[in-house]
Amino acid sequence: TDLSHIRNFSIIAHIDHGKSTISDRILEMTGTVAKRDMQAQLLDSMDIERERGITIKSQAVRVNYTADDGETYQFNLIDTPGHVDFTYEVSRSLAACDGAVLVVDATQGVEAQTVANAMLAMNANLEIIPFINKIDLPAAEPERVKGEIEDGLAIPADDAVLGSGKTGDGIHELLEAVVYNIPAPTGNTEAPLRALIFDSYFDAYRGVVALVRVVDGCMKKGDRIRMIATKTETQVEEVGARHPQETALPSLSTGEVGYLVTGLKDVSQVKVGDTITLAQGGVDEPLPGYREAKPMVFTGLFPIEGDQYEPLKEALEKLSLNDPALVWEPETSHALGFGFRVGFLGLLHMEVIKERLEREFGLDLLATAPSVEYHVYLKGGAMVSLHSPQEMPDPGSIERVEEPYLKAKILIPPDYVGAVMDLTVARRGTFVTMNYLSQTTVEMLWEIPLSELIMDFFDKLKSNTKGYASLDYDFLGYKPSDLVKLDILLSGKPIDALSFIVHKDKAYDRGRVLCDKLKEIIPRQMFEVPIQAAIGGRVLARQTVKAKRKDVLAKCYGGDITRKRKLLEKQKAGKKRMKAIGNVEVPQEAFMAILKVD
Ligand code: GDP
Ligand code: MG
Repeated sequence: TDLSHIRNFSIIAHIDHGKSTISDRILEMTGTVAKRDMQAQLLDSMDIERERGITIKSQAVRVNYTADDGETYQFNLIDTPGHVDFTYEVSRSLAACDGAVLVVDATQGVEAQTVANAMLAMNANLEIIPFINKIDLPAAEPERVKGEIEDGLAIPADDAVLGSGKTGDGIHELLEAVVYNIPAPTGNTEAPLRALIFDSYFDAYRGVVALVRVVDGCMKKGDRIRMIATKTETQVEEVGARHPQETALPSLSTGEVGYLVTGLKDVSQVKVGDTITLAQGGVDEPLPGYREAKPMVFTGLFPIEGDQYEPLKEALEKLSLNDPALVWEPETSHALGFGFRVGFLGLLHMEVIKERLEREFGLDLLATAPSVEYHVYLKGGAMVSLHSPQEMPDPGSIERVEEPYLKAKILIPPDYVGAVMDLTVARRGTFVTMNYLSQTTVEMLWEIPLSELIMDFFDKLKSNTKGYASLDYDFLGYKPSDLVKLDILLSGKPIDALSFIVHKDKAYDRGRVLCDKLKEIIPRQMFEVPIQAAIGGRVLARQTVKAKRKDVLAKCYGGDITRKRKLLEKQKAGKKRMKAIGNVEVPQEAFMAILKVD
């Protein structure tokens, strides 16, 4: 296909505004996938993605569209991840495009990630076509939403396409707008190969597959290629396009988007953002924008059954093949035994991985409360990176501790400014600025410690604003804070896996609240269990789990057999999520209670 008949574009949106549904309609209306083969959200391939209605990996689909002018165009449609954890992947996918369809839900209007994604698209110099979705709903207010797009994003919305991913309304107009408004790719077909990797994944049969946009030159089966950042060389085993099933092609040439089978076994050799060139006679200068994925949130994962340590390790190895952002190292806890300290891009990434480990690998896991990476400067001048509160050095040897801060952007209707202020200040946030994006939307910018954000912040923000708030954030940098390690003791013994790092001014309150919570969560045992919160041996708060009354069980003996069986089954089910620490049975909720502040 000549360049003038190619259109590469992304669909971007705030989560749930209808990006996946619209992609499905486009596949259907271009005859790429027959209607009878459609299943909702075809492009969200992982089970978890489909269940949660979110996109985690990028996808690229090629469709042929015969326009009203009678010409057939090659559309490469890239469905990008929609969550804050995956901002970098979004930015690389956008770099593979020349335009973007900005989907805005006509009942919700512009939200935080609408703004964030639109900014990314503008920064990538993409032509933006606004699509106002869900106009089939009675609550749709397309005129108000147009106003928000113009006032809040400075994107002209007069020509916005109105439609519905559900009914298919407006999709034909959208496809015509793509032909006329999104520019054809530019690039030099005669120049040496340069191709951008915007996603990569591990295929059990074929090794690592990369999704690429060819910027200059051409790539075909048998070519020797080199990844510039990782310096990996390999031979191209196959190139092709997805419709969405993979179809081999003789070559991928300038302007085209497709997949590349590398034959490599390790996804860390084929990194998102890297540039592919020819091993011989290639270029030295990579395409701009490469960045290493960096984990922000760490948690301990421990198998409930000790014999699942090796299976857990194998499962982590398997998942890492596909996910260079997933990092882990062995961790030993006195309380929980052998496990792993695992780093994630964010909380969603963590939940997804934990869920996959349990579902796809059949593991029963106990997760400790997530924490961030602290930088501890010792009196001698050395710096230690802490991934786990357990590793906190002796307070006497510490000169200062620094913690990661974020720039957070919160969008809310004006009525909730006060509610957001209260919450964010209580979470040690520093106010930066506030702007009216429109009469109905205020944008507030804050600097806030990441550790506060991972403590139930998003749920609190949502509930304090009746669900209206939306949140987006970027890493800001490290700043010094007055931080201490708070220990939890059960029956007088410190439980390392329950320790956490907290700001000194909050230590007393957090310790007290947590003792109260643990008292509720830890079931009664045959004996009394004292719970204490302490800093460096000084007890701040205490509570007691009373001993079980013996007659509770006694009543069942000799009694009705079905009742007894039910009780035993109930106990067994309960046990699944419990871990014996010393002689105390501690449920999973105890570890997560650390995140619930009030
Ligand atoms: P994404 O998160 O942006 O990919 O959004 P989805 O495509 O997963 O859609 C989120 C929800 O909105 C799903 O329940 C869809 O069925 C629904 N939805 C999407 N488009 C429309 C539409 O045009 N009208 C209506 N009524 N619902 C829609
Ligand atoms: Mg989706």
